[in-house]
Amino acid sequence: MSEQDVRQSRRDQQLVSIDPATGEAVGSVPLTPLDAIPRLVFEARNAQRGWGALSHAQRADILRPAAARLKAEAKRLGALASREMGKPLPEAIGEANYCADGLASELDEIVSALADIVREDGRLTSILRHAPLGVCAAITPWNFPILMPHQSVLPALLAGNSVLLKPSEETSLVACEYARILNEFLPAGVLTPVFGDGAQGRALVLADVNLIVFTGSRETGKKILADAGPGLKRVILELGGKDPLVVLDDADLDQAAAFAVRNSFRNAGQVCVSTERIYVDAHIHDEFLRRMIERTAGLKQGDPAEPGVGVGPMVNARQKAKVLAQIDGAVRAGARVAAGGEPRAGNFVAPTILVDVDHSMEIMREETFGPVACVQSFRTVDEAVRLANDTPFGLGAAVFGSDAARAAEVAARIEAGMVGVNGGCGGANGSPWVGMKESGYGFHSGPEGHRQFAQVRVISRPRAVTSDA
Ligand code: ADP
Repeated sequence: MSEQDVRQSRRDQQLVSIDPATGEAVGSVPLTPLDAIPRLVFEARNAQRGWGALSHAQRADILRPAAARLKAEAKRLGALASREMGKPLPEAIGEANYCADGLASELDEIVSALADIVREDGRLTSILRHAPLGVCAAITPWNFPILMPHQSVLPALLAGNSVLLKPSEETSLVACEYARILNEFLPAGVLTPVFGDGAQGRALVLADVNLIVFTGSRETGKKILADAGPGLKRVILELGGKDPLVVLDDADLDQAAAFAVRNSFRNAGQVCVSTERIYVDAHIHDEFLRRMIERTAGLKQGDPAEPGVGVGPMVNARQKAKVLAQIDGAVRAGARVAAGGEPRAGNFVAPTILVDVDHSMEIMREETFGPVACVQSFRTVDEAVRLANDTPFGLGAAVFGSDAARAAEVAARIEAGMVGVNGGCGGANGSPWVGMKESGYGFHSGPEGHRQFAQVRVISRPRAVTSDA
């Protein structure tokens, strides 16, 4: 379907989803008219009253049976996600299974995080309650089109809010199916999908909502923060990153190169914690690079449904053009292509390694969100830390070194919300997903994250006087 056809469909009030690997239409959903949004928010507020009156545990019990339904539909949801945004089919099915398998423990974790907390001193007994905020707008991206709605919607619902879910315009179909499954169990009006692009997203933010939970680009995050300001609406913004990987002189080179390739090219680099900048000790730089190039050559790129394909297309032509413009700019400024770089048809970008890069280049400063790894050498650990921190972003980072205590010391000096030593940045179960600097504002997941979806209230009364007599 041509772009003109897509525009025509929009006039027909349909939002068409396009398979980025083939350019074919996957299906469509009704576009939510902008002028319908205030009414949908009003209805969500009405539905919230009854929902908010239930206990956290009652709300969790209502959602519990959704796990079996998500599990039963995991293959179908995964196939839809893969076709809509181009991630390899097994990864997309894995994403659906992850949500289904983890639902029960996620619900338990949220219920326990939102339980009352009692504080006492000699004078007062205070109960800290986690009450609903009201109506929540959850605005999600396309790169994890099942997981992102899941992680935004669950804590918002369990805290007693009603939710309007506005998925990315690239992945409306799978989000629609996800919401349909939860709605088999939820009371009417508690979870309402809203379909459209930034215009619908912005209309939601400006409508009478109390909490905005957003995952997406830093630029859009700033716009949302500005739009939420006049109403002092609560926001949780999970934004982009420019994650560094520091490879110390004593690193296991195979392990480090395998991580670098996996974490730079997974989901075609369309991951907020993708490794985008790699700083390698000068003593091991050439050997590390050789191993990275070798592993990159073994990656199969192509149709995401084909067995063995590890790297699919970019989500759309705009994203491809952005990635290629960054590569071209770097090459014009003196960078060398050590792997990939060759033109690919359609929305595909070959997994690419750039060397001879420096921080004057846009590709070392701005988020790429594509399958590009930039490798630069360093002479001292202080230099590596300075380079890693020379960015407004601060989402994830990784440090590789055989002396794990030394690597952990370096990790602690990197300004990122989540830093992995000899592995990825995701923490143990119960850890929040959190960004520093311009990568986040508020955060989600883990008990600390779940509480941000609720309004803390303090109810105090005089402490009963106990007589010893
Ligand atoms: P991406 O480029 O990764 O899609 P965006 O930040 O542009 O990242 O989009 C993430 C989500 O935010 C999508 O659902 C998109 O429709 C929505 N969005 C885009 N612009 C705005 C805006 N100004 N206000 C609210 N939501 C928006």
